[in-house]
Amino acid sequence: MNVSECEGCGAENELLVSSCVYCGNSLVDDKNIEKESDELEELVQQCSSWIGKYEGIVSNIGALNNAKQMDSVSATPMFGSLISKSFGSKAISYSEILRKVHHYLDILEIKSSNSSILREKVAQFKKRYERAQLKERETNKKKVRLIVGLVLAFVLLITFCLIMASLE
Ligand SMILES: [Zn+2]
Repeated sequence: MNVSECEGCGAENELLVSSCVYCGNSLVDDKNIEKESDELEELVQQCSSWIGKYEGIVSNIGALNNAKQMDSVSATPMFGSLISKSFGSKAISYSEILRKVHHYLDILEIKSSNSSILREKVAQFKKRYERAQLKERETNKKKVRLIVGLVLAFVLLITFCLIMASLE
């Protein structure tokens, strides 16, 4: 049966029609719409929170290191599960965060095809994500500079010691 019965007047309408052609009553299930918008809200919230987690680690060398360390630790099966138990849920792996961000951005992108409000939201999320990626690059550069600085200081110290030793 390719018809749906109108709850208002009882007339039969074609399935593709969204409101009754006889009385104008909506044929779309309101509960379904509500459920869908709840799901959408949940998706938006999840997306925002995962981008937030990424933003939280990118500007901090230590936090970024920890997150990346979680990746290498969880790559070793036995040891990984042991460590992640002792670390608790506080430390989230770097790849896990990125995977979640991409996952939610992808879903929202698809869902936003017929909603301009959602499209704007997705654009904002993408902007936040790009900014965080730039920040991460800066942090990585800072880390390299820090290491180079330490190595230079060490070389200078050795040179100084050698000079002092040769003067005696
Ligand atoms: Zn009707």
